[in-house]
Amino acid sequence: MPFEVTILGNNSAIPAHGRHPTSQIVQIHEQQFLVDCGEGTQMQLAKYKIRKSKFDHIFISHLHGDHYFGLIGLITSYHLMRREKPLHVYGPKGLLDIINLQLAVSNTTLFYQLIFHEVISEVVSVLLETDEFIISSFPVKHRIPTHGFLFKEKIGLRKINPDKIAELNFPFQVIAELKKGNDSEWEGKILKSNEWTLPPVAPRSYAFCADTIYHNELIKYISGCDVVYHEATFMEESAERAVLTFHSTAKQAATIGKAIGVKKLLLGHFSAKYENLQPLLAEAKEIFRETELAIEGQTFSIER
Ligand SMILES: [Zn+2]
Ligand SMILES: [Zn+2]
Repeated sequence: MPFEVTILGNNSAIPAHGRHPTSQIVQIHEQQFLVDCGEGTQMQLAKYKIRKSKFDHIFISHLHGDHYFGLIGLITSYHLMRREKPLHVYGPKGLLDIINLQLAVSNTTLFYQLIFHEVISEVVSVLLETDEFIISSFPVKHRIPTHGFLFKEKIGLRKINPDKIAELNFPFQVIAELKKGNDSEWEGKILKSNEWTLPPVAPRSYAFCADTIYHNELIKYISGCDVVYHEATFMEESAERAVLTFHSTAKQAATIGKAIGVKKLLLGHFSAKYENLQPLLAEAKEIFRETELAIEGQTFSIER
């Protein structure tokens, strides 16, 4: 089952050097989710041949323009495309007012239903839950209320023990119970789940940490995560500026990645002052080797 993230935009506030403001696609199994929607997101979707009609849920981390200035364009395109299915938008208080104002002044009544879910940035909240995964938000520390998003698979069913397959001549319902971890009974015989099945595969998780100052507290929200995206707006040479603007350096991002022990750390939200990103990567890798740049157009798979 696929679980992967595709980078559409990796720059901070000002688009520069061919890089775009923040946007990513997270695919879990059959569903695709848009995370942040900076200016130019639609153009990036077109460039990478990704159909925008696939998205039913859009997650916005905070109301700095580089994370949502593309949203009204996308919402309007859906309207012009005569979208019929509802669109769920998750974001901070104030986002719905902005959308409504933009629609009102252009005298637009959407063809489809836009369902807004207000995210309270200061607390952990479950935003969407299915049988297969949970998407939640968690607080980060930035100049205005900001939250990250955690995408987490649920623990699946236990697997049939391959050594037992030849003897497995029970009805489907009995097997289903064993796979759920429940002991069962068949023709007077007690069947123990842990004899007939093996533990389920480990669930995978991905955290998008949005814009944040270096913030140790973050670790408790995303501990155990397989892949983490953490902003690295600056290098250590600009550590003071990072503090002033509530952003992080590459070294600080790597320190978080190392503390969690992630399988892969993705760096993004690069300042326009850096045309060449390799020095940021090198700075982070000195602390934590499993670091990569979140390059636009690249897809990173979340491995077990
Ligand atoms: Zn930003
Ligand atoms: Zn910001």
